[in-house]
Amino acid sequence: MTRIKQGSIQKKEPRSVIRVYPQGLRESVISFPNNTMNQQQATIESERCLQCYDSPCTVACPTHIDIPTFIGMIRSGNVIGAAEVVKTSNALANTCGKICPEEIFCQSVCTRAKQDSPIQIRELHFYATQMESRKGFSRLKVFSTIDGAVAVIGAGPAGLSCAFELTKLGHKVDVYEKDGIGGVPRNSIPSFRLANDELESDTNFLSRFFKTRKEDVNARLFEEIRHHHKAIFLAVGLGVDRPIGIPGERLKGVLPVLQFLHKAKIQPSVLSIGDRVVIIGGGNVSLDAAATAKRLGAESVVLIYRRSESEMRVWKSELNEARRQGVEIRFLTNPVAIVGKSEISGVMCRHTRLSKEKDESGRRVPVELKGSDFVIDADTVIVAIGQSVEAEWLEGFERTENGYVKVNKNFHTSVSGVFAGGDMVAGEGTIVQAVANGKQAAHTIHEHVSKKLR
Ligand SMILES: Cc1cc2nc3c(=O)[nH]c(=O)nc-3n(C[C@H](O)[C@H](O)[C@H](O)COP(=O)(O)OP(=O)(O)OC[C@H]3O[C@@H](n4cnc5c(N)ncnc54)[C@H](O)[C@@H]3O)c2cc1C
Ligand code: SF4
Repeated sequence: MTRIKQGSIQKKEPRSVIRVYPQGLRESVISFPNNTMNQQQATIESERCLQCYDSPCTVACPTHIDIPTFIGMIRSGNVIGAAEVVKTSNALANTCGKICPEEIFCQSVCTRAKQDSPIQIRELHFYATQMESRKGFSRLKVFSTIDGAVAVIGAGPAGLSCAFELTKLGHKVDVYEKDGIGGVPRNSIPSFRLANDELESDTNFLSRFFKTRKEDVNARLFEEIRHHHKAIFLAVGLGVDRPIGIPGERLKGVLPVLQFLHKAKIQPSVLSIGDRVVIIGGGNVSLDAAATAKRLGAESVVLIYRRSESEMRVWKSELNEARRQGVEIRFLTNPVAIVGKSEISGVMCRHTRLSKEKDESGRRVPVELKGSDFVIDADTVIVAIGQSVEAEWLEGFERTENGYVKVNKNFHTSVSGVFAGGDMVAGEGTIVQAVANGKQAAHTIHEHVSKKLR
């Protein structure tokens, strides 16, 4: 096996894929990892769109981008217009063009699939926003300002989208962010899937519309912000890794997944993970961790999951990609302890079977099989079993059964004048869902603030 230098991220190689055109015409094209189409490919693809009168793609998109209109603009050569149509609906246009899971949204309902294959909507969307960012920002401008500022806490997809929409509605917005702006896409999504400049194309554009203050909001600052603003939108995401609660969790060599991904993204050279990595967890985040560990040079990356493949809630494309990279996935395997002295040496696992009983997620409950213990050797163990929202200043907020912050249909929390959206409300979701949440919340905040000002 080829060894990659520890601490270096290896670039993905271009892949050859078959693209299917009308009348069964097939063309083998090189698909580059950044998915950017050239003008000819974009034009040919846009010509396949049926311009459906009911545009199911637009309905399926959580931000309801007017998909047939922007595809029609690409077809007629108006690429900047196409990017503006996308941006008007989706504040993180370029980011979503790159990594939105289209297979579960717009593309899954594309009418064209009944004839041959669905339109590559996201790739067309990315083509338009990339072309626009190369040519300079779009002409979208904001004019009027309503008295009385609104605060947004957290500059991830939900917060940025809410701030952008509120600005379009005429509000002065103050954004509070403890890190750089961008949220999980900036801090944790590996750069081989989303490069910094691809995110910055969105964040640089958005930063022109509102002020961002670098502040880690605590109880005292939160009260101060409440005092000075007509309303607050909370969008602090799920920044805390859930502990697994098995013996050995505190041994050297055990890393919570967000910490691991953040270090791998920001300072890969200081990360030493050894040759054998075990990832615990069966979601998309664990697949990102596995792919990152492979790129950091680990020879063996084993992902363990306590249920079977059909219970895994992952995007199939990500799962296939992890397998293609040589990640070994062991299903029906539960970790019971992390073993070692001061440093880890492996993970003690137990085989499971699935019972008929289902848990609250609707999936069959795994039951451990006695006497089936075995150890998988490891130099690093990455725990990726989910994230939660924890902050002492959020203690007064009503929570859902899963511990997320509870809101009503207007995104209003149990605290008057405080709204919330994104992952901290809905649980682990997607960028486009967080963007949609932020946008919808902006409209109810606008109503709330406008009534107060009357
Ligand atoms: C590893 C990983 C990979 C993913 N890959 C994809 C993907 O490919 N496609 C996709 O669509 N989705 C993906 N997702 C999901 C997506 O990133 C999230 O659903 C989305 O980022 C949620 O947005 P948010 O605004 O609710 O929260 P976040 O993105 O978490 O943003 C919250 C922001 O609040 C800030 N903050 C927190 N506390 C405070 C405080 N006290 N004071 C000030 N600021 C604070 C944080 O610094 C952060 O910037 C992925 C998630 C992870 C973890
Ligand atoms: S469903 Fe497909 S074919 Fe129809 S408008 Fe949308 S992208 Fe075009």
